[in-house]
Amino acid sequence: MDRLVSPKVTKEIVNKYGFRFSKSLGQNFLIDENILYKIIDGAEVNKEDMVIEVGPGIGTLTQALAEEANKVIAIEIDKNLLPILSETLGDKDNVEIVNEDVLKLNLHKLIEEKCEGKPVKVIANLPYYVTTPIIMKFLEEKVPVKNIVVMIQKEVADRMQAKPRSKDYGSLSVAVQYYCEPHIITKVPRSVFIPQPNVESTVIRLTVRDEPKVKVKDEKLLFAVVRAAFGKRRKTLLNALTNSGLGVDKEIIKKVLEESGIEGNRRGETLTIEEFAKLSDILYDYK
Ligand code: SAM
Repeated sequence: MDRLVSPKVTKEIVNKYGFRFSKSLGQNFLIDENILYKIIDGAEVNKEDMVIEVGPGIGTLTQALAEEANKVIAIEIDKNLLPILSETLGDKDNVEIVNEDVLKLNLHKLIEEKCEGKPVKVIANLPYYVTTPIIMKFLEEKVPVKNIVVMIQKEVADRMQAKPRSKDYGSLSVAVQYYCEPHIITKVPRSVFIPQPNVESTVIRLTVRDEPKVKVKDEKLLFAVVRAAFGKRRKTLLNALTNSGLGVDKEIIKKVLEESGIEGNRRGETLTIEEFAKLSDILYDYK
C-alpha cells in the first residue's frame, strides 16, 4: 500500500469508498509526513512497544506506527472506516482493529489480553470533541501505559502544561500534572488535515509517573478541593472553599487554611499541587 500520509492518496481513498467525513466524530485526517514523524519520534516508539491508537481513521498514523512498533491496537468507533482499514492496512500483520468507542472499553482488560506484558504507549491524533475524557480515562483508571503522545486542540494542551499563576492554569492542569509530566512537542497548523479543523493543534507528550506527583490521604478529596478552588476563580480561597460542595463550614475552612500555612485571601490559581495536597490532607482530618 502507498504511504497514506499525503493529500493525494488520502483523497483517492476517501473518493474510492465514497467516505463522508463525520464532523461529530472529529474526523480530520493527517496529510503531513513531517508532523506524523514528530508524533512517532515524540513517543520514542521501538520494536518492544505495544501501541494503542485511538481513532485510526483511514490508517495514516497506524501504517507508520506498524513499521516502528511491535504491535498496534487501533480502536475506531466508526464502522464505515472498517472496509477502508482492511485495504490500507491489509499488508500489516501486526495491526489489530477494535471497532469500539474507546470511552466504553475496559482498557485494563484490553491490555491484559493483547499486550503480552510489554510496554504500552498511547499514540493518537485524537478527535477534539472528546480529547479530555479520553486522556482522563487512561489516567484516572490508572491504565498501565508509559506515555501518551497525542495531537490535541492547542488550548487544551496549553491548559494541561500550565503552571500556577498563569491564565491557563486550572483543574485540568493539576489533574494531568498529578499523573504525568507534560511536554509540548510541536504546534500544528490547520493546513495539515483534510478537512481542516477550525482550531489550531498541538502534539503533547504526557509521560506517566510511576507514582502520582504528591501522596495524599484521599485522592477524591484532593480533586474535590481543586475543583472547588477553581470553580469560583475570582473568589478568595476562603470563599471558594466555603459552600462549595465540600460540606464544611467557613470556620473549619479557616482552621484548615491556617494549619496549612496558606493565606485565605489567595486565589486557587496561585496554589501548587503540593499546596492543594496539604490542604486536602488537613481537611481530611476535619471531615
Ligand atoms: N488517526 C487518523 C489520522 O491521523 O488521520 C484519524 C484522526 S481523526 C482526528 C479522529 C478519529 O477518531 C476518527 O477516525 C474518528 O472516527 C475516531 N473516533 C472518534 N470518536 C471516537 C471514540 N469515542 N472512540 C474511538 N474512535 C473515535
